[in-house]
Amino acid sequence: MRIDILTLFPEMFSGFLEHSIVGRAREAGRIDVRLVQWRDFATDKHRVVDDAPYGGGAGMVLMIEPLWRAIESLRPPGARPPETRVIYLTPQGVPFGQSTACDLARETQHLILVCGRYEGVDQRARDTLFDGEISVGDYVLTGGELPAAAVTDAVVRLLPGVLGNDQSAEHESFMDGVFDYPHYTRPEEFEGMKVPEILLSGHHARIEEWRRRQAIERTLRVRPELIDRADLTPAERACVEAIRREGEK
Ligand code: SAM
Repeated sequence: MRIDILTLFPEMFSGFLEHSIVGRAREAGRIDVRLVQWRDFATDKHRVVDDAPYGGGAGMVLMIEPLWRAIESLRPPGARPPETRVIYLTPQGVPFGQSTACDLARETQHLILVCGRYEGVDQRARDTLFDGEISVGDYVLTGGELPAAAVTDAVVRLLPGVLGNDQSAEHESFMDGVFDYPHYTRPEEFEGMKVPEILLSGHHARIEEWRRRQAIERTLRVRPELIDRADLTPAERACVEAIRREGEK
């Protein structure tokens, strides 16, 4: 997969792109990440890409012309979604979630992430240039760089061969609509806190069942709205109802 990140601050990505799973995926050639300096597409010698807003008010606005030129140069002629996608990171976008990460990992070969700054981009760019807008949460960050890093990380770990077998993404939180189950490792007891006995029993089927119930219970406790959309078997739905009834007592 190729990922182009259009940004005014490419230096912000250096540590993130060099280490751990993303770093290894780059070294193995599974992803080709290119940091593109927004100012390279400015039309004046001072490399200015922003200007004051029409109508007045606080802050600067990223001009359409440099952005238009940048996307023209990054998006090959005729390239269309889902194979190529130009995504603007904005708090006004569609909330980013595991299902969007899965769609991008599965369908998109060339992802272009546009990191805004200041008050964001000229509305005409939003009306015409992007294939989608993503938000990483209901809060306002200073720029789109951290959101672009979050999207890159979440997508890259889902690409085939990026995670080893021992780190499969299959059981992670949200993959089937519920949280991951609780994890324990050595020591067996710490300060009087013991590892649940079932995990030491060697009964794989019962362990699976226990983990699933734990995952459902903690999702129900913290994010009950996820449960209604989760991919649960009829037996698991019955378990949800039983937990709800216990909670009502
Ligand atoms: N004036 C904008 C608004 O209120 O919607 C916020 C602009 S913000 C200070 C600057 C840039 O940071 C945005 O253009 C966007 O690229 C990025 N950004 C900030 N918060 C974000 C979020 N929650 N999700 C995605 N991108 C975000």
